[in-house]
Formats: sequence, structure tokens, C-alpha cells
Amino acid sequence: MSENQYTPTIGLEIHVQLKTKSKMFCRCANTSAQIGVSELKPNSHICPVCTGQPGALPAINAEAVKLVVKTGLALECIIAKHSKFDRKNYFYPDLPKGYQISQYDQPLCTNGILIFGHSRIGIERIHLEEDTGRLIHDQSETDSLVDLNRAGIPLMELVTKPDIHSAAEAKEFCQELQKILRQLDISDADMEKSQMRCEVNISLSATHKLGTKVEIKNLNSFKAVERSIEYEIMRQTKLLEAGEKIIQETRGWNDREQTTYSQRSKEDAHDYRYFPEPDLPPINLTDEEIKKIEQELPELPQAKVARFMEQYDFSLLDAKQIVSDKRLADFTEQTMSELQSWLVDLDEVELENADPWEKYRGKLSKLVANWLINKLPPLLTGKEKTFETLPLTPENFAEFITLIYKNKINSKNALQILEQMVESGGDPTSILEDQGLHLLEDVSDIDPVVDKVIADNPEQVEQFKKGKTAVMQFLIGQVMKETKGRVNPKMAEELLIQKLT
Ligand SMILES: [Zn+2]
Repeated sequence: MSENQYTPTIGLEIHVQLKTKSKMFCRCANTSAQIGVSELKPNSHICPVCTGQPGALPAINAEAVKLVVKTGLALECIIAKHSKFDRKNYFYPDLPKGYQISQYDQPLCTNGILIFGHSRIGIERIHLEEDTGRLIHDQSETDSLVDLNRAGIPLMELVTKPDIHSAAEAKEFCQELQKILRQLDISDADMEKSQMRCEVNISLSATHKLGTKVEIKNLNSFKAVERSIEYEIMRQTKLLEAGEKIIQETRGWNDREQTTYSQRSKEDAHDYRYFPEPDLPPINLTDEEIKKIEQELPELPQAKVARFMEQYDFSLLDAKQIVSDKRLADFTEQTMSELQSWLVDLDEVELENADPWEKYRGKLSKLVANWLINKLPPLLTGKEKTFETLPLTPENFAEFITLIYKNKINSKNALQILEQMVESGGDPTSILEDQGLHLLEDVSDIDPVVDKVIADNPEQVEQFKKGKTAVMQFLIGQVMKETKGRVNPKMAEELLIQKLT
């Protein structure tokens, strides 16, 4: 049997630390957003509430609720007008209360969707809970240490429907979600800092037969999500082909070995004995409150890509690439807006009653995309410059694009000019004039060069006159060489033919 006779069915559980000022149920600073928790002095941001002291009462962080609702709205979820917190009971040394405050049967958000490429992945639920503390095993030979700085940090849990069918799709889901979380400023969602953590549920099914579900934990990079799923598909396929059974279990990911390993089987599964949290009131949201949060939503990547295609006529590929970087997207929009006003004033354009913007935006956006995506990045490598620290302004870049568009410079010279703009700022027209890079347009400027080329190459001229027309390319090349590429080759050809026939 080959691998593709089994269909992988994959669901994800993603935990995200929210970027609030304080923790979920107390006033301790939420330090996850600023620096990785591990860089802090252990137990420096704790209080009776987040360490679970007897009698300490929690209070709900309204900002955290708002951020989860915001995420839910962005993912087209149904927002619950009534929800509540529950206690999830279990014992673990990093959980001093003996229970975690979470949401069980009434999550804040349900039934959403995330669309990217050809994928439509359902969101089962998004709920709010608190993070646990952290155990440190590598600082003492004999003891494990507990750090509770992380305990009580607001944690959002998102569960997808089992709509994912490949390792690549799972990875892409995580990447798309991270983009949205960052754009909404809900979390930095840095996986290396544990601000975003993934768990995978995966089963392989043969036709008409559902497979056994295996869970993979400890995935702290997009690559680990992808690799662990690839590994599990391979491992389970081998077992099934050998006629063996898949055991329902939780497996961990060993990044060094690039393999999964068994952590615990279903028999060890917890019964959490959930019950409503008696110390917290239920969460009630009015339509007005939900609407107000909705109005604060910025434009999401998916919508922005669509608008860039519609408004500026970018290709899907270019729009996606530009939108993936917020600063690049802002820069591009400002450039396009400059170009739009430039087009309105441009009377050289032959309009034939057409709206100049409608007629030319496609050509301009293609130039903008090409120069921003393909030609600019190589100029930045090894120069310790990033897009945001460049002295390049949208005004100057738009002017640069118009020079290319109007054939005032050829692409080789354009690259030289852009390099200088990136290096020291300045407007392209001044650079062009300072460096004498403008194209020669006057026949009187080119004429002497053509004469010189004819005089210097009598042999080739003779060949051309005898009918060997291919030699023309050589002569044009000589004109280009003499003028350092500052002549339109067509013009050079015309002049040469004029003089030689
Ligand atoms: Zn606290």
C-alpha cells in the first residue's frame, strides 16, 4: 500500500499569551509581551492571587476578554453574549491552586473560519484561561525549581475543526493565524518565546474507516508543526501497512532526532472534573459592546490582499507578498497614492477618454512590485539596513518609478540610482542629473557617437553593406558601450541604418 491511500485528518489546538498589561485575574504585570519569561528573575511578578493563596480572590481582566472577542470577530466566530469561567482540576507542581481557571462548556467564541489560499479551516472554539507556572529542571542536580511569573498570564486557546489534511496546510494555518494576531496586536505570538504554542491531533483514515487519534505536544516552531506531522503520517502509515494498530496516545516531539515519542496513553488521560468557578461572575456582553470591538478591527491580511488587487491591480502573488509585511504594505500604498496624483497631472499620456488611473495603474503597480520585491532586497543585504530604517520615502520612490515608466532611465542606471537613494536618501531626479545617468534623447547628442562607431569599425560596416544584417546588433552594442547604456537601442539602430543605407 502506498502512503496516499490513507487520508490524514488534522486538528490544531493553539495557545496564545495575550498582550495585556496585567495578568488574567490579578494586578501583577504580564511580562510575556515584553521579554521572554525565562529572562526574568524567577518569582518576581507574583501575588497571593496568581500563587493561589487561601482566601485570595480573582478579578476578571476585561482587556483580555476584549482581545479574545476581537480574535473571534476577525475569524468570523459567533461571540457568546453569556459565558463563564470553570475550574479545570488537576495536580501539577506548576499549578499551586490545584486547578486552572478556564472555560469549559461556554467558550467566548465558537464556529469561526480562517481562509487562506485554497484552504477553509473551521474554528471550533476560542476560549480564555490562565497560563500555568514553569518548572526548571536544569539548575540543580537534585531538585526541580518552580517559577510562577508565568502563572496567571492570560492565555487564549483556539481549537480548529479537523479540516486540515496535510503538514504544509497545518503549518500555513499557524503562520496565517500568527499574522492576524500580530496585526490585531493581540499577541506577538512568538513561538520561540512560548507566546504561541501548538498541539496537533492527527489520525489516518482509510476509505470509510476513521483512524485512531494521536496527539502531538511540545511544538515550538512552525517547522516542528510541519515536521512532526510528516513524521506521524509516515510512522502511522508504516504501522497500518504492517497490519498493526495505532494506539490512542499523546506523543512529544524530539527536535534533535526529528521524531515523535510516546508520552502517555489514553488510560492515563485526566478527568478534570470541571465545575463553574464560584469566585468569578459570568461574562455578559451586550450587542453594543461587541459592535464597538468590531469597529476597532483593522483591515485583515486576507481583505487587504483582495483590496490591493482591486484598487491597484496588483497580481495575487505580488499583493500577498507586499501585504505579508505591514511596513512594506504601508509604503506601497503611499507610493501608489503619489503615483495616482502624478497621473492626474500628466497630460503627455494619451488618454483616449479613459480615466488615467484606470488605464495605467496596472502598469505602474507592476513596476512598483518588481522594484520593491525583487530589486530592492538585494541592495539591502549585508548593509545592516532593513526596510524600515531606509532613508527612502514613498514620494521619492514614486518619482523613481515615473522615471522608469517614462523611459528616462534604463534598468541598469535605475538600479544605480536606487542604490544611492537607499544609501543616502535624496530624490532620483537630482541623483540622475548629478551622475549624468539620464538617457540621451537628442539626435544631436547621439549623432557624433554613431559616427565614431562607424569610423572605428570599418570591417563590420563593410559586412553590413554586403547584406550581413546580423552585424547590426554588434554596432548597436558599440553605441550602447560608448554612451554607457544611455541611448535607447531603437534610436541607435534607426540612426545607424540611416547612415549606412
Ligand atoms: Zn498576581
